[in-house]
Amino acid sequence: MPRVAVIGAGLAGLTCAKQLQTQGCEVVVLEKSRGAGGRLSTRRTAQAQYDHGAQYFTVRDPGFAAFIEQMCAQGAVAPWQPRLRQRSSEPWYVGTPGMSALGRAQAQGLEVRTQTRVTALVRQGSHWQLDVHEAQAIEGFDVVVVAIPNEQAQVLLQAHAAPWADALALAPMLPCWTMMFSTAQELCAFDADTPSDSAIGWWARNSSKPARAAPAGQHDWVVQATPAWTQAQLEAAPETVAQSLIEAFARAIDVAQVAPIEQPSVHRWLYARRTPGLPALEPTRCSSALGLGVCGDGLSHSRVEQAYLSGLTLAQQIAAQA
Ligand SMILES: Cc1cc2nc3c(=O)[nH]c(=O)nc-3n(C[C@H](O)[C@H](O)[C@H](O)COP(=O)(O)OP(=O)(O)OC[C@H]3O[C@@H](n4cnc5c(N)ncnc54)[C@H](O)[C@@H]3O)c2cc1C
Repeated sequence: MPRVAVIGAGLAGLTCAKQLQTQGCEVVVLEKSRGAGGRLSTRRTAQAQYDHGAQYFTVRDPGFAAFIEQMCAQGAVAPWQPRLRQRSSEPWYVGTPGMSALGRAQAQGLEVRTQTRVTALVRQGSHWQLDVHEAQAIEGFDVVVVAIPNEQAQVLLQAHAAPWADALALAPMLPCWTMMFSTAQELCAFDADTPSDSAIGWWARNSSKPARAAPAGQHDWVVQATPAWTQAQLEAAPETVAQSLIEAFARAIDVAQVAPIEQPSVHRWLYARRTPGLPALEPTRCSSALGLGVCGDGLSHSRVEQAYLSGLTLAQQIAAQA
């Protein structure tokens, strides 16, 4: 069975890696950040913990449903029933005690090398060498899986698979400023909303999610700007972004003022979600001749379920060609 390098420890990369390992491949996952999970992420501060990437997910595919059922049994996922202005027709799920728990659970049993940013793919005969930022190159892979956002994948693929890189370039990812803060006031009777008439695309009372450990009486909030507002403020100072978003949030929930316990923190996602409305690329693309595959939400829809399914499908293609 082939020796496989998976670049990116988001849910797509981890799922692909896990499936390949189950099928007998020797798999190494390379991740540039300090932990697994990618945009399934939770930031912990002295004040609280906040899911600052994916907020919740829905389940439509039977295979994904079985996986989530297993994750629920392990305690890594639970249903979330926020108070909404309009009831959702589908159940919502979140990682517990934070969104990052889902990635951590999926990483179990895998070799994940963190703080390892792959900068180039180099063809050496019939094998791949991966150049790594400020570290020795890693050699000897039969197959490389690229499981990272489109703009970042494009850079790695351009030299070897230009048509794939060009296809990804046609589906850019949109940015998202995200603000996190806590209040001592309940502020509003709802736990989440998508106000379409302001700078804000989504807000949630993070502390209303299951198994969060907010101190009694404290409310933890995550506010995400729309892509258009983010684009216009892309280079703005974090303090300016926080100030504008706090004011927009107060307008969105119709209160005179929002008083955070401490200065809000902000995070700028450069590649948050795929531009909606564009045609989907093939769910996965794999060339057996080159030993190169691509997966991740950037190929079709930026949904947690889609990331999982793309990783799984690619693994099945690779195993079938081995
Ligand atoms: C703000 C925000 C809100 C969202 N809300 C929702 C939601 O409510 N519901 C929903 O279903 N989805 C939501 N999503 C989308 C969801 O998070 C993604 O669809 C999913 O997590 C993508 O998984 P992935 O594995 O494809 O990519 P990622 O999770 O991005 O994983 C890619 C990994 O690759 C690493 N990486 C990148 N480049 C390199 C490199 N050169 N070398 C090594 N490692 C590298 C990154 O650090 C990252 O860990 C949201 C996303 C964001 C950002």
